[in-house]
Amino acid sequence: MIKKFLQKVFNKKIKGAVAINQAAMNQASGSDTGTAKRIAVSTHKIDKSLISQAALKTCDGLQNAGFEAFIVGGAVRDLLMNVKPKDFDVATDATPEEVYKVFRRSRIIGRRFRLVHVLWGQETIEVSTFRGHHQSEGDAQTNDSGRIIRDNIFGNLTEDAARRDFTANALYYNAATEEVLDFHNGVADLKSNLLRMIGDPTTRYQEDPVRMLRAVRLSAKLGLKIEKNTEAPIQKLADLLQDVPPSRLFDEMLKLFLSGHAVESISALRAQHLHHGLLPLLDVVLEQPLGERFVMLALKNTDERIKIGKSSNPSFLFATLLWHEMLVAWDKYKAQGEHAIPALHMAMNEVIDIQAEKMAIHNRFTATMKEIWSMQPRFEQRAGKRPYGLLTHPRYRAGYDFLLLRCESGEIDNEIGEWWTQFADADAETRAAMLLPDTTAKKRRKRNRKKASGSVETAINAKEPN
Ligand code: ATP
Ligand code: MG
Repeated sequence: MIKKFLQKVFNKKIKGAVAINQAAMNQASGSDTGTAKRIAVSTHKIDKSLISQAALKTCDGLQNAGFEAFIVGGAVRDLLMNVKPKDFDVATDATPEEVYKVFRRSRIIGRRFRLVHVLWGQETIEVSTFRGHHQSEGDAQTNDSGRIIRDNIFGNLTEDAARRDFTANALYYNAATEEVLDFHNGVADLKSNLLRMIGDPTTRYQEDPVRMLRAVRLSAKLGLKIEKNTEAPIQKLADLLQDVPPSRLFDEMLKLFLSGHAVESISALRAQHLHHGLLPLLDVVLEQPLGERFVMLALKNTDERIKIGKSSNPSFLFATLLWHEMLVAWDKYKAQGEHAIPALHMAMNEVIDIQAEKMAIHNRFTATMKEIWSMQPRFEQRAGKRPYGLLTHPRYRAGYDFLLLRCESGEIDNEIGEWWTQFADADAETRAAMLLPDTTAKKRRKRNRKKASGSVETAINAKEPN
C-alpha cells in the first residue's frame, strides 16, 4: 500500500518537472494560438472572483502537469455579458486518459464525444480535449445526411476553436494570464449583439442539427440576434432534427425549458418551424386557444421561478405541455366505453408513447408526470375521506399547482382551486364543514345493503332444498 502511494507521489513529481518545461515551451512558441486575438484583462474586464474555484483548480492542475488548459465556451461568453455562468467547461490538449490521471476524483464519460468529469465536492467541471478536423468527406464519423456521429478526433487549440458552434462560444480564458483568446471575432459579435455561426451555417447544421436549437435557445437566453446568414438555412433544414437521437433532443429541450427564457424560446422555435419535429403533440395543443393559454402560462411560471433562483421540476413542465393532448385521448377512450380511470391510464400511455418517437422523455420524469395527471380527477372528489387521502399524496404539491394552472387558464372553474387552497390550510373542524355531501357514500351504503340482503336471501335459498 505504502509502496504504491510513494510510487504515485514520485511519478507525480517527475511528471510535474517535465510539465513545467513543456508549459514553458508552449508559452515560448505561442504557436497554438494561431490567428487568435489576445485580449488583456484591462480590456475584457472579466472579474476572476466570479469564476468557480473548481474551474480554476482544474485549469491549474492541468497547467501544472504541463498541459494547456482554458475555460471555454458559454462561461466566458456569459462573463463577458455580465451573466452568471451556469456551468464551467475546460478545454485542454491533454487526452481524456491524461486528464483522468491528473485528477484523483474524475471519470471519463461519453461515446459520441468522450470527455472527463472532474469532481470537486458538489461541483463537476467538464474537461474536453481539443477537437480536430475530420479528415475527409464520407468519413466514417458522419452518417448519410452529414451528421457527426462520433467526434473523438483530437487536434490543437486553433482547430478546436473552429469546431465550436458560434463565434461567441469560441473564446478561451487562460486563468494563469487572465487573457482571453478570440479566434473568430466573438467579442466583436457579442458587442453587436449577434449570434454568428462559425463557418458555413448549412454545413454546420448538417453536421449537428441540434445547433439549430442552440441558436434559438442562446439567442433567447442572451437577448442576441441570430445573424442573417446563420438564421437563413434554419427553416429549410428543420427536418434534419428528425434524425437526431430522441434522448439528445430531450437534453437540449430540457435546457431550453429551464433556461428562464422558455416563453421566448418556444415562440422562436415556432417562428422557425423547429417545433414540429420535437413536440408533435404540442403542435396540436398550441393550435387550440385553451391549450395554448395553459402551456404559455406554465412556461411563464417556470421562467419566473427560475429567474428568482427557484428550481423547477421538469416532470411538471412536461406534464403541462402534454396535458391537453392527454385530455383529448382520455375523452376518446371514454367515448369508446372505457371506465374513466382505465381510460385515463390508456390515454397517458398513448400520449407518452407518441411523444417518445420524437423526443424521449426520461422514465424518471414520465412516472411523475403520470402521478400529476392521475391526481387531477381526484381533486374533483370533495366528499367523505377522499380529500384527506389526497392531501397526504407525496406529489400533492405538484398536483395542486397543476390544478391551479388549469383554473387560471380557464379550463376548469376557479372554485375548485380555491376550495383546495382553503381545505389544505384549514383546521379539522373547518375541513369537516367544507366537505361536500357524500352522495357516493349513500349510494354505496344502499348498494351494500342490497348486496347484503341479497346474499342472505341467496344463502337461505341455497339452504332450502328444492
Ligand atoms: P449554456 O449557457 O447553456 O451552458 P453553452 O454554450 O455553454 O451554453 P454547453 O452545452 O455547455 O453550452 O456547451 C459548451 C460549449 O461547447 C459551447 O459554448 C460550445 O463552444 C461547445 N458546443 C456545445 N454544443 C455544441 C455543438 N452542438 N456544436 C459545436 N460546439 C458545441
Ligand atoms: Mg455551458
